[in-house]
Amino acid sequence: MESVDRVPLPRGRGRGQVRGLLLFLLSMLLAGPVQAEIPLALSGTAAEGGLMLGKTAPGATVTLDGAAVRTSSDGDFLLGFGRDAAGTKRLEVTLGHEKAVREIAVADRTFRIERIDGLPKKKVTPDPEALARIKEEKAEMDAAKKTTDAAASYLGGFQWPARGRLSGVYGSQRILNGQPRRPHYGTDVAAPVGTPVKAMAGGRVTFVHPGMFFNGKTVLIDHGLGLRSVYIHLSDTSVKAGDTVTAGTAIGAIGKTGRATGPHLHFALTLGSIPIDPELVLGEMPK
Ligand SMILES: [Zn+2]
Repeated sequence: MESVDRVPLPRGRGRGQVRGLLLFLLSMLLAGPVQAEIPLALSGTAAEGGLMLGKTAPGATVTLDGAAVRTSSDGDFLLGFGRDAAGTKRLEVTLGHEKAVREIAVADRTFRIERIDGLPKKKVTPDPEALARIKEEKAEMDAAKKTTDAAASYLGGFQWPARGRLSGVYGSQRILNGQPRRPHYGTDVAAPVGTPVKAMAGGRVTFVHPGMFFNGKTVLIDHGLGLRSVYIHLSDTSVKAGDTVTAGTAIGAIGKTGRATGPHLHFALTLGSIPIDPELVLGEMPK
């Protein structure tokens, strides 16, 4: 026999409905001010050396672990995680009275140890004259990093700046002629002198140097919102400060100028002062 409850519900709200409403209000209280109304999209890699591309509503305020994150007028933003940044980061996006919160689990990575021997002694332990030159060159480059474009020029996409053999990876602990140095914050592509080097993303050239002590011929590109790429040891440069580039614009050629044992491109990506792993952004080098 089918059993159908034919007892009419009392007028007004049923007890179940009231309980449902209470549960809903309770869940709202427990969830805090989290609202689904603020659009929030994230892509990229949540790992040490990773870069995430974010998009929210124009005018929203973004913070990561309480620190302000720069946004474009379209609501684009970037999150970067350094070499030793593993752990949970709290992303908060606020617009008016609404707030969206995301916990981002940044994965731990293990980095290699690389030994490089046979470097000229003066390039490993510079003399006082060289130290003064290095300091001056650093100041020049730092000055070019004081500002960044407010537009997200990187949105056109990323591409490998050169083709060749990967001869150095991000994050490795370098031991030069037996002396431990700071980790290698870049990717090395070994290829013959003269191999074309292209901009890895759209942006504006902010610095070109004809021959730095360590870096040799150098190009620095600002991709907006604090994202920058640098290309060093070049044999030739074909852009000047102020030039606008898109991903793939020719900027120079592979060389071995500065502190290099053989022809290769060292390129690095930073978000503000955070070193990003280019390989996590670019993926595998196309054949
Ligand atoms: Zn390198």
